[in-house]
Amino acid sequence: MKNNINWNFDNSYSRLSNTFKQHVKPVNVKNPELVLINDNLAKELNLDFTKIDRAELSDLFSGNILPKGSNAIAQAYAGHQFGHFTMLGDGRAILIGEHLTKSNKRCDIQFKGSGKTAFSRNGDGRAALGPMLREYIISEAMHNLNIPSTRSLAVVKTGEKIIRDTQLQGAILTRVASSHIRVGTFQYVAARDKKDELEVFFNYVVKRHYPELVDSKKKALDLLNILIDKQIDLVVNWMRVGFVHGVMNTDNMTISGETIDYGPCAFMDKYDPKTVFSTIDRMGRYAYCNQPAITKWNLSRFAECLIPLIHQDQDQAVKSATDLINTFEKKYEKRWMNMMRNKLGLQGADDKDKFLIVDLLTWMHQNKVDYTNTFCNLMDLKEYDDDLYRSNDFKNWKKNWQERLKSNNNTPEKYITLMRSVNPLVIPRNHKIEETLQIAESGDLASFNKLLKILEKPYVQQENISDYLKMDSSSKEYKTFCGT
Ligand code: AMP
Ligand code: MG
Repeated sequence: MKNNINWNFDNSYSRLSNTFKQHVKPVNVKNPELVLINDNLAKELNLDFTKIDRAELSDLFSGNILPKGSNAIAQAYAGHQFGHFTMLGDGRAILIGEHLTKSNKRCDIQFKGSGKTAFSRNGDGRAALGPMLREYIISEAMHNLNIPSTRSLAVVKTGEKIIRDTQLQGAILTRVASSHIRVGTFQYVAARDKKDELEVFFNYVVKRHYPELVDSKKKALDLLNILIDKQIDLVVNWMRVGFVHGVMNTDNMTISGETIDYGPCAFMDKYDPKTVFSTIDRMGRYAYCNQPAITKWNLSRFAECLIPLIHQDQDQAVKSATDLINTFEKKYEKRWMNMMRNKLGLQGADDKDKFLIVDLLTWMHQNKVDYTNTFCNLMDLKEYDDDLYRSNDFKNWKKNWQERLKSNNNTPEKYITLMRSVNPLVIPRNHKIEETLQIAESGDLASFNKLLKILEKPYVQQENISDYLKMDSSSKEYKTFCGT
């Protein structure tokens, strides 16, 4: 069959009632042209591009041709944006179907930038090439850093201009996720205040994502508990690599525990807990150091949605949910400490570890030192040498650290292996991302593909990449933008 790349669709979400979605097709585009295709991910999904030419791929990944078995929908959702509740939904995205891999893994296949839907409000339903390439490279980098994330399968240029501050090239990204169900999706259903709808949706989510809970007598509390764990793991991972999500609205928090929505995100270079990149985050609500507290806030909004399912007696339900939500801090602290111990190669736990860790972070902050490279320096990698690391303060700290390293049967082999498994040697540096995006937008993908390749192996030493390891030397503060 023409256009057959082995899609194997089974569209469970589109079988739910129309309360949860709108059936809508991608709007055809003028002149689709494939820009990127992710062969590694295609392999994981058991897709086969060998019998198809580039023109057909361009048609397929622009939505001009919908593959057999697809059933396109826009999903309804709501969310707290910077603390304010709003009705949202896929305003520029369309879920074309759920693909089952050979090992029966279910993945949403979604086009982002594919035209207006019932949820577009005043938007044009479109996306620009630069931001779609940016999502592609950063989401893939996150995956390769071993952090749960949505993935990127393809980018197609539409051949149409879109209007922002200036005219930009239109593009469509194919996003792959274990689902696009968000805290905001629950908020949308809960706000309708119909318990039967909430039950149907809740059972759907449990069956799809956490089937181990199907027979539980307290499914709603169990789901809340799992989500607390998943989201703590996620945010601890973000803190580990210096990732600032930038727009942690409840509609951008998944039920699967994958990072989603690569809008204004960026990686911190010099260590500063208050780091914010997004131009619209004027109060620093989503600053690096606030990410754990916001995660808890978002989980509280999630818990509120589940109240009718937790207990018939509302007071009892609120109490149980609150008790669970209040486990957040202790759990987070424990996992953050363990993550930092791993970054420092420490075995076991010592009461003084907290001081050792905080002292290092304080030194980095006071001296505006690069977060990533400091841990690389501690792993004795010569590329990360710098005068800063010869200061007396740092040397003194290092003495304490080396003393602590000796405890609990640690050996250099053990601690280096541990440190190398959690400290990336290369991250998507903001200036490198910007530089390569600019060239890529003009049609030359060589430097973009080179950066993509380097970011495939962030924990492995690579030859001749010293330029990719340096902090941005320009004095200009890095700023990112939303909704482009
Ligand atoms: P985001 O900032 O990407 O999380 O998007 C927030 C909401 O705005 C979602 O409902 C999006 O679907 C919607 N949205 C963002 N950009 C557009 C656009 N160009 N056209 C229509 N809706 C949009
Ligand atoms: Mg979003």
